[in-house]
Amino acid sequence: AAPVAFLGGMSRSARLGVIVKSSGTLEQLARTRTVAFDKTGTLTYGVPRVTSVHAEQGGEDELLALAASVEQYSGHPLAAAVVAAAQAGGAALPAAHDITEIPANGVRGIVDGRFVAVGSARFVAQETGAEPPHPPEGHTGVHVAVDGRYAGYVALADELRAETPVTMAALHRVGVRSTMMLTGDSEHVARHIAAQAGIDDVRAELLPQDKVDAVRSARPRPVMMVGDGVNDAPVLAAADVGVAMGARGASAASESADVVITLDDLSRVARAVYVGRRTMRVAW
Ligand code: ADP
Ligand code: MG
Repeated sequence: AAPVAFLGGMSRSARLGVIVKSSGTLEQLARTRTVAFDKTGTLTYGVPRVTSVHAEQGGEDELLALAASVEQYSGHPLAAAVVAAAQAGGAALPAAHDITEIPANGVRGIVDGRFVAVGSARFVAQETGAEPPHPPEGHTGVHVAVDGRYAGYVALADELRAETPVTMAALHRVGVRSTMMLTGDSEHVARHIAAQAGIDDVRAELLPQDKVDAVRSARPRPVMMVGDGVNDAPVLAAADVGVAMGARGASAASESADVVITLDDLSRVARAVYVGRRTMRVAW
């Protein structure tokens, strides 16, 4: 493309809160046919809140405190929500030691001499040898195992961004053929959010490498991947156009992103494709 058209496209995009890093990116952006999204923090606000606690035996407050005592050492948004809920009761959290965090799975540690594992249904099923129960519809379960036995779950809800459904419709209007959700969360929660969002294709229970593979095999190309910048640098790098969203995207992932959205507004993704197509004179 002519440099002049590129510079025009860059400044038009920047005014819309979209920073495009190179002319090659603008070209790919203009031709985008598939858009994949991370769920947490991208399609949703990424601020989960505890809604209920289910304990197999004993008290719910006790289960919440036990989960929080290992979660206090994790930086995951679910962990922060569990800790906040446990501290809301005013009780001090028991200390934990020998903490190990397994990304996209959960956390293990020792609390009062008991071996505690906290995380996804799949992760806790590996600890207990049995499939945990489902939390209420649309809720993410942070499951807990104590000494290899299932102890219960903390249920959390994360709200869909208000602009997500209109953004999916706008992407189709500017010629995007397919929208996808890639998430480490359960199939259950993924389907619930995808239905509210109007997402075409759902891939759940993915580990970080599975997300990379899903982006590489997605068709039609070019494929755009939109993430919030938390742990998604490899998957952004695997896409033809990697987009980091919002204030939190200002971390590691914005360096591996080709496009940075500086406003906390998902609809900018559709505006960016539109401006790219106009600038590069790509028909849609
Ligand atoms: P997402 O794809 O939604 O960004 P992640 O890849 O960060 O999710 O994590 C995948 C899943 O692993 C989460 O939905 C959760 O079930 C579980 N998980 C990861 N870290 C933690 C943690 N610290 N506490 C509880 N659950 C966790
Ligand atoms: Mg994430």
